[in-house]
Amino acid sequence: MTTPSFSDEELRTAIARELPGVRADLERLARIPGIAFEGFDFTPLERSAEAVAELLRGLGLQTQIARIGDGHPAVIGVKPAPPGAPTVLLYAHHDVQPVGDLSRWESDPFEPVERDGRLYGRGCADDKAGIMAHVAALRAFGCGTADDRVPVGVVVFVEGEEEFGSASLPDLLEAHKDTLSSDVIVIADSGNWDIGVPALTTSLRGIVNLFVEVKVLKQAVHSGMAGGATPDALMTIARLLATLHDDNGDVAVDGLVSTSAAPLDYPEDRFREETGILDGVELIGTGRIVERLWTKPAISVLAIDAPPTAGAPNAVIPTAKAKISVRLAPGDDRRRAYATLKAHLEKHAPWGARVTVSFEHDGDPIVIEATGPAYDAARSAFKAAWDGTEPVDIGVGGSIPFIATFKEAFPDAAVLVTGVEDPFSKAHGPNESLHLGEFEKVCLAEAMLLRNVAAL
Ligand SMILES: [Zn+2]
Repeated sequence: MTTPSFSDEELRTAIARELPGVRADLERLARIPGIAFEGFDFTPLERSAEAVAELLRGLGLQTQIARIGDGHPAVIGVKPAPPGAPTVLLYAHHDVQPVGDLSRWESDPFEPVERDGRLYGRGCADDKAGIMAHVAALRAFGCGTADDRVPVGVVVFVEGEEEFGSASLPDLLEAHKDTLSSDVIVIADSGNWDIGVPALTTSLRGIVNLFVEVKVLKQAVHSGMAGGATPDALMTIARLLATLHDDNGDVAVDGLVSTSAAPLDYPEDRFREETGILDGVELIGTGRIVERLWTKPAISVLAIDAPPTAGAPNAVIPTAKAKISVRLAPGDDRRRAYATLKAHLEKHAPWGARVTVSFEHDGDPIVIEATGPAYDAARSAFKAAWDGTEPVDIGVGGSIPFIATFKEAFPDAAVLVTGVEDPFSKAHGPNESLHLGEFEKVCLAEAMLLRNVAAL
């Protein structure tokens, strides 16, 4: 065991020194609209990969842009470990979500701007700040300078298509397995529990998206002539969808897994404020809110294909189709869950309607057993960076299937899921933003984590 060569105070000073440069680089990255969704111009992704590569080269890392087939560019930067020291893989992604409805943004999504201590812009949090937290931690140790004292081996891996499903990730990990092999993996793509309260993400729900189509007639018929004796497809699908929940709003599909969450209280008024639920509208489901969000299944109807109301004729419509998204609790299995859902929908077909269920996309839930030296090293780093506040273990209601991909590719590595987001970051939404004060703590915690891991 080597003695950490940097004190908390030294790292605090070093991060404060690096922060203005880190902020400027973050803004530079956030001006590049790299979106991996179909139908977008992909040239900005090339520019954003190149900008990340330039940052890594600036740290003296052996840097390459890697891709599989016509997949989008990932960036890999490597710094060999000092003798006897462990190697840490630092993950983030440089692609961003589309901006959606521009009129809902208060400022240009690709021109970062500070308001009230937050930096607004698409990717300012998710996940360009994740990239910059890695860069900041390395700069704090003088990485790439004459006085380079980075205490661990480092592999920085910045993916270019996370928001569009990480299609090439398994093959990228396989193709670069030796380069990426490491003892600890830090995935900076999640967030903290609250402003001032750090967190390690230890569970994520899985996902199954599917379509259900109902057919009741060979073709549309006159609603006056046939209505009253003929079911219409919209009423039929509405009744079918209604069987997915009970009157409390709990999922009513037998056979989906539910488990319990960490003893955290998520006050209802905070949840209401963060989500914007209208006054008077009730929350659905029963039990603690963290369990409803993290460790129980959830079912949402995302879309229905039906005639538009404008110009709809007086006709009984023959078919309707809905897209359903199911979030799976940790411990559930995506294939079994799809079979369970399919059986439920077929069994509950109202009025003998023909029901066809088809699969869209899925991902398994994940539980990380967050015990052992690497997790202790992370918790003590977080506590020090947040001035004595203990980190909490949180779940995430969303799904990051690629974490399972990392766990499968590197089964012996400790996987730490961290991140820059806070409850007000609005990642994926309009007016995404980064809390700059918290970001400094995230950078500091990561520097302390590297130091602590070196001493294991
Ligand atoms: Zn992300």
